[in-house]
Amino acid sequence: MSDAAPGPGHPAPYACPVHKTALADWHCAQCGRSYPTVDGIPILLHHSNSVFREADYLPRQGRGGYDGASGYAGSLDRSSGLRRLYRRAVIRLMDAGAPRRDFGLADALAAILREQPQARILVIGAGERTVAGGAVYTDVAFGKHVSCIADAHDLPFEAASFDACVACAVLEHVLDPYRCVDEIRRVLRPGGYVYAETPFMQPVHMREYDFTRFTHLGHRRLFRHFAELRSGTTAGTGVSAGQMLRYALAALSDRPGPRRWLKLAGLLAAWPLRWLDYAVHAKRGNYDAASGFYFFGRLQGEPLSDQELLRGFRGSVC
Ligand SMILES: [Zn+2]
Repeated sequence: MSDAAPGPGHPAPYACPVHKTALADWHCAQCGRSYPTVDGIPILLHHSNSVFREADYLPRQGRGGYDGASGYAGSLDRSSGLRRLYRRAVIRLMDAGAPRRDFGLADALAAILREQPQARILVIGAGERTVAGGAVYTDVAFGKHVSCIADAHDLPFEAASFDACVACAVLEHVLDPYRCVDEIRRVLRPGGYVYAETPFMQPVHMREYDFTRFTHLGHRRLFRHFAELRSGTTAGTGVSAGQMLRYALAALSDRPGPRRWLKLAGLLAAWPLRWLDYAVHAKRGNYDAASGFYFFGRLQGEPLSDQELLRGFRGSVC
């Protein structure tokens, strides 16, 4: 492990997102490009590969705030008064954890830190998420804890820089999740950990920045270069049924005003469906229509074969 490794007391091993080689004062000696920083946050985007443009993150005249990609940041709450109250109530209802859940990010991190208390952790698409023990946080929008603006297709870090990588509710928002997982593998040390949560039966969220869904086996194949420590549902069929009902009701109108109330009505109508999760949690059929899946694994040499993959099917067989 190098002395420049991130983690408690160590700086992050930032690299050019194009050449993946170390930066000196945010300058890449290979391409001669200098990357800007905004309020100390480096903007490390691949200029031709990313859908996000460096210029969108730089302060402009007459604008105090700047949040990068406008559509992506548009999902952040900038409302006030009654509308803010309404949005907070809706978010509170939507964000309530799954009613039945046996493993999650906190459990994965506890397992990692038990084995390696100084583990260097990378959190991709961090949002407002923080993890115990300190970490490097990337996102494509500025946030309270974001360490750098980065696109997961080209992580701006040197190879083998991290012991663990977290990507929760991220891989549905990237255009090429396979490429992003290749990047996760590149920045992890051999035997490094990954923990990911990705939706399966969930409606579109975050507007145009939502591209992909995974079945349990599809998710397993995405991480085929990792040995599985544990995988399962993040929320079951009850939660996904509720989400579908909410979106079906909201689809009754395309006007913002009525949609707001239809969404709230949908949330209240769908709420009891969540409790179905208690009844279906241990059933095979829960895997056929779960809201999402988690995967916790360790980087290994040989990938899982596709024949082996099929033997991991956990859904209903009748
Ligand atoms: Zn470069």
